[in-house]
Amino acid sequence: MELTRTQCQRFVIENGEAVSVVDKIKYNTLKKAQNFADEQNLLMKRKDKVVPYHCRICDKYHVGRNGEELTQEDADEIWERTKPDKYRISGLKILGKLDLSKVALSNKDRRRIAKEKRKLENLKNNKHGCT
Ligand SMILES: [Zn+2]
Repeated sequence: MELTRTQCQRFVIENGEAVSVVDKIKYNTLKKAQNFADEQNLLMKRKDKVVPYHCRICDKYHVGRNGEELTQEDADEIWERTKPDKYRISGLKILGKLDLSKVALSNKDRRRIAKEKRKLENLKNNKHGCT
């Protein structure tokens, strides 16, 4: 069955597939959404950038991916703007400046690499490639 969602909802993805739909968090102000996005960008240790945006359906603000990668310039800008030494939103504290060269791959990359590894393992264990 094809899942559908409204603009105020997002898909829950498991193993690359949308398995259910949940409501996105609604923020009353752009500032609150921006704070959450900043926190996510600095804490998530991944390169998919999240951004706050106004929703025309519910007239509130959501945070979501815009398909862009977080760049080192983005991370530096957020760091300077948010003064992370005093930066607490959901009980988490950012401990250091984000070095994107040390950041993990995106989930998509991780899945692709895991798949390649499995393929190699299969080849090693079974010379004929039978399953
Ligand atoms: Zn909405």
